[in-house]
Amino acid sequence: MQTAGCPACGRQHAELASENPSHVVNTGGRVFESRIRNVLCPGCGLIYNDPMPSDAELSDLYRAMARDIADRPQPASARILPIERDQAEFVSGHAGVERPAVLDIGCSMGGFLAALRETGARVMGVEPSPHDAEVARTRFGLDVRPGFFEQADFGSLRFDVISLRFVFEHVRDPRAIVRRARGLLAGGGRLFIEVPNLAMPFVGLDDYFSYGHLQTFTAETLAYLCARENMIPVAVVEGTNVFESSPHPPSIRAILRSGEASEPESPNVDAVRAHLARYLDARRRLIARVAARVGEATESCRRVVVYGAGTHTAELWRACPFLAERTVAMVDGNSKLQGHRFLGVPVHSPREILSLEPDRIVVSARTAEPVIAAFLRQHGLEERTVRLYEHAGVAAA
Ligand SMILES: [Zn+2]
Repeated sequence: MQTAGCPACGRQHAELASENPSHVVNTGGRVFESRIRNVLCPGCGLIYNDPMPSDAELSDLYRAMARDIADRPQPASARILPIERDQAEFVSGHAGVERPAVLDIGCSMGGFLAALRETGARVMGVEPSPHDAEVARTRFGLDVRPGFFEQADFGSLRFDVISLRFVFEHVRDPRAIVRRARGLLAGGGRLFIEVPNLAMPFVGLDDYFSYGHLQTFTAETLAYLCARENMIPVAVVEGTNVFESSPHPPSIRAILRSGEASEPESPNVDAVRAHLARYLDARRRLIARVAARVGEATESCRRVVVYGAGTHTAELWRACPFLAERTVAMVDGNSKLQGHRFLGVPVHSPREILSLEPDRIVVSARTAEPVIAAFLRQHGLEERTVRLYEHAGVAAA
């Protein structure tokens, strides 16, 4: 854990934005517990982790997460997600040249680059996860450099577009990334950044301020940070939401180009404070509503089963401390978690749910809730199911 001041403007003294004394991630057969403290810079409005997790702490977590992903069954054929196709269309519409040379930083399993290649682009990726890089190579035949962008050697290569899709919020030094990317752009080249948008957060028991999100942006604070490295927005789109089957919150998409080195104007910090206050209030109200609903639904029950054994359930435990003595088991589709205990409760496969003879099943998952509810309905458990969200939209109103 380290403190280094605001990653955008360098200011040392910031105000507390949000604090979680024990954020729990259950992944790869391990439980990670950490304190997450986010602060808001009164100079420029950027919200960032203070202290920052170290590189060692982050890579430890990401390695465990990679073990989970590596174990999941791979789809047999090449598959491009709807969001990746949408991002590719967006980038190809803003590239400014025919057949652009594109570098995707943190290219994951390559769907975005594969979609972009179909539009005529010449594409390359860099990806720190060996598993994802290998899938991108074998499934799509892509040129993917292993490791982190910061250390990768591109020689004399220059790019028309460099993209960061849901990567920029995870980096420890975002200005250094912009600086390096700027140096790798061809004349007139564009930077594409897509990040979650604090102005449109999801509201769930699993906090919007999650582990690994080192920066939290609004469109204004993102533009300001990039402007400090002489990258100026050409186009900014807020509210894009094309994730497949899950109510992820809308994002910010920014296309930036190299610009003059004048001192950028500071964002409206009060506007950021207002977005933050609205989110924190909505989450407080959600927690109170969940505690009341779960309390009522499980009252006098002695065989509660909780569906889900991850971050969301750790937060459910905090919201509903009475669940600890009413819960006999958890179930989770992640085979890495089955056969272990989480929060002192044994975790089983969802296939065993009937044999657990539950009085009530509390669905502890935000984005997967509709899918899990459908599974329970198929097993005739609809009347014993307790849902926490139900409504389709989860973005804060
Ligand atoms: Zn700042």
